[in-house]
Amino acid sequence: MITSNFKHELRQRSSQYKKRLSLQRLQQFQQNSSQTMPSSTAEHPSVSQSDLDSFSKHLKSSRRILALCGAGLSASSGLPTFRGAGGYWRTYDATQLATPEAFTEDPSLVWQFYSYRRHMALQAKPNRAHFALAELARRKPDFLTISQNVDGLSPRAHHPAETLELLHGSLYDVKCMNFHCDYAEQNNFTDPIVPALEIPQNTGADLDISDAQVPLKDVSTGDLPHCPKCKTALLRPGVVWFGEPLPVKTVSRIDNWTSQHIDLILVIGTSAIVYPAAGYIATARKMGARVAVVNMERPDTGASKLKAGDWFFQGDAGVVVPQILEAVTGKIEEPR
Ligand SMILES: [Zn+2]
Repeated sequence: MITSNFKHELRQRSSQYKKRLSLQRLQQFQQNSSQTMPSSTAEHPSVSQSDLDSFSKHLKSSRRILALCGAGLSASSGLPTFRGAGGYWRTYDATQLATPEAFTEDPSLVWQFYSYRRHMALQAKPNRAHFALAELARRKPDFLTISQNVDGLSPRAHHPAETLELLHGSLYDVKCMNFHCDYAEQNNFTDPIVPALEIPQNTGADLDISDAQVPLKDVSTGDLPHCPKCKTALLRPGVVWFGEPLPVKTVSRIDNWTSQHIDLILVIGTSAIVYPAAGYIATARKMGARVAVVNMERPDTGASKLKAGDWFFQGDAGVVVPQILEAVTGKIEEPR
């Protein structure tokens, strides 16, 4: 009884908070609309009406649309700040653990790192930008999304699989380590993937094993995920590790798709400094595309650097993307 009352109160509070927040946003929007130069902050992004009008017009008339997405797409989904390169997990630089050499040397350590990342990304929810892109894919069938994210949030937002290419693989794909075995599995959301890789708990709460002070479990190689096909080799996460080539099928599909005229490229939450992602913007421009960048900061370097005729929408992708796509997708509700 106490629990259900408490939950009810929480729900009420949360709905009051949301109402207050939307009122604040409306006031902010009205303030911005009355200014000639709209200001913009991360919390209250503003999209100028004239940019929105010209973009919507182009979006509606576009047939072939490409989207290139990076970490900024998932920023408002509540993923931990630790992410891939540049972040530390325990005492390890993430780039040290994401290599075939690290897996061969200590598969138990590397699997615990990925089991943690799978678990954390499953706690996060796809945001309105993921749902808006999925809806755009349904409304404009000749649309391709290239995502550099491995967090599984686009598939979980029901982005049609045939219009989504995951350039760096996925935390939820696994494949066999045996060179002669072709076993691979996609969208395996089982958490933990095997019982031995369960995140240790203390009185019902997950222990933060990214903290080096928290002891790691001693997991033997025999208890790690094994290939059900060849029955001998270990399974490994289906992400692209440092030093590995990008998936051939993905790259050739993208090359093929981008060899024809493109009307529009959406560059969302990525500075696109690293190739080949950076090259896709140049290719799209060459194939006739106009460029729209959605980012928290104005890109002054890299391939997404703005040129005349580009659109730049500043702010959190979770807010801005559904707003600018609304002319085609309709209103995207807050996911529950
Ligand atoms: Zn196998």
